[in-house]
Amino acid sequence: MPVTYKGWRIWTVKYEDNFKTMPKGFGYAQATAEVNRCLLCHDAPCSKECPADTKPAEFIRKFRLKNVTGAIRTIKENNILGGACGVLCPTNRLCEKACSAKFVSDDKPEGADRPIQIGKIQRFLVEYAWQTGFIPIEKKDEKTEKIAVVGSGPGGLSCAAELAKNGYPVTIFESRPEPGGVLRYGVISSRFDMDFLEREINDVTALGVDIQCNSPIDKKAGAEKLLDDGYSAVFMATGLWAAASLKNNKNEIFGLYSSVDYLSALRDGRFNEMVENIEDKTVAVIGGGSVAMDCIQTASKIGAKDVYLVYRRSYAQMPAEPEERIEAMEDGVHFILLNQLTDYVVNKDNQIEGVKLVRTRLGDSDESGRRKPEIISDSEWVLDADVVIEAIGNTALENSPEWYPSVTVDEKNLIKVAPETGKTNVDGIFAGGDAVRGPALVVQAVQDGKTAARAIVEYLKN
Ligand SMILES: Cc1cc2nc3c(=O)[nH]c(=O)nc-3n(C[C@H](O)[C@H](O)[C@H](O)COP(=O)(O)OP(=O)(O)OC[C@H]3O[C@@H](n4cnc5c(N)ncnc54)[C@H](O)[C@@H]3O)c2cc1C
Ligand code: SF4
Repeated sequence: MPVTYKGWRIWTVKYEDNFKTMPKGFGYAQATAEVNRCLLCHDAPCSKECPADTKPAEFIRKFRLKNVTGAIRTIKENNILGGACGVLCPTNRLCEKACSAKFVSDDKPEGADRPIQIGKIQRFLVEYAWQTGFIPIEKKDEKTEKIAVVGSGPGGLSCAAELAKNGYPVTIFESRPEPGGVLRYGVISSRFDMDFLEREINDVTALGVDIQCNSPIDKKAGAEKLLDDGYSAVFMATGLWAAASLKNNKNEIFGLYSSVDYLSALRDGRFNEMVENIEDKTVAVIGGGSVAMDCIQTASKIGAKDVYLVYRRSYAQMPAEPEERIEAMEDGVHFILLNQLTDYVVNKDNQIEGVKLVRTRLGDSDESGRRKPEIISDSEWVLDADVVIEAIGNTALENSPEWYPSVTVDEKNLIKVAPETGKTNVDGIFAGGDAVRGPALVVQAVQDGKTAARAIVEYLKN
């Protein structure tokens, strides 16, 4: 918070002071105790539920048999972002959901009915490799065909690493000043910090991958031109960097932010500016997913007077993880559920003053399988707010098809690919990650990168 000292305004709040770095992971003893709980299932249900085929059953078994280097090798060979995934995967919906340890009966010793904490073990092993200087990946013979990757988020990094492992010279073109995509400019640092990201990116560059930042591949130098410039194949993993908005017109509303802009600002040097905008203010965040949770958590930590979460369905239907919701409530965030935004309230200078809401009730299920919110007539009301953050989903930028003019996209500007290869309709151009799937997960982008890299290797053989 700013304090005045001899007429100087001094910022005592630093990013790290507010959000700290992410919590420490397991130490050796904790990780060993956790793998000792593993039932060593023959059919390895956890491995089947990992979208990136990181093979948890294999690395846990190796670790349990004291083959630590083998365990690390299994992770990093299958998932170059094994550390990031260990931290960020919603494991309760993936590998840990299938863990047999949680199905054993109540008469087992305490703890035996919880799933093995696979994500935490995975993170430990990756960090242990960094601490001990163990390099788990060996490169194959050098090849000559150059490959271009567009975007340095999880999809791009994973594809680049897989190709580099196979000996191909790979250049990543990144439009932003630093690599990492959402891992750097989206996820908040109390969940995933910069040091960790840097070390994981180092594992990619150590394979010889060249990352060129501030190098957008746009319509002047689009993906097709990269092929003309001598790259034998191109992988597009440009993500989703436009924010969906409930605004009725294009006029700027001061005090209204998209989650993309708000979260990026906390990471890209505009932190103090954002603190000034939020501090002592009433903030309303619209949305019920994990991104909304990142927004409310940061806003309350920055020093907002009150933070409201506005969500049109009920608590049980919120896509955000249960722990995130509980943490938000413990932080004092007020949950306004079953309320839908209809408009923004602004003053004569177009400065936000509040949001118009209408109450909802749950009707029948919609295509997502969740019960649909139905508006209750004559129930409009206004929630006063100085700042509003919309966290209702990310979409592809309107002009993104201009970056790859011959590539087919759908009505949402998502790139169309063959799912088993990541091939687009243009020979030599592949794509993956959020730019293909829509909003998804880090681990899915990692898998798309691997899938496309393997298809590119086959493509280059023919
Ligand atoms: C706030 C937030 C929190 C999230 N939290 C989680 C989480 O906890 N766990 C989880 O699993 N998933 C999470 N996700 C989702 C996850 O981050 C994404 O699914 C993942 O990052 C997608 O990876 P990607 O490589 O496809 O795209 P991105 O990470 O978006 O990376 C794309 C990269 O391409 C660059 N780029 C774009 N256009 C161009 C161009 N024309 N030329 C060159 N470069 C370009 C961008 O600058 C960016 O660096 C979160 C998403 C958000 C927004
Ligand atoms: S990558 Fe994610 S889903 Fe896969 S095993 Fe690791 S923590 Fe589980």
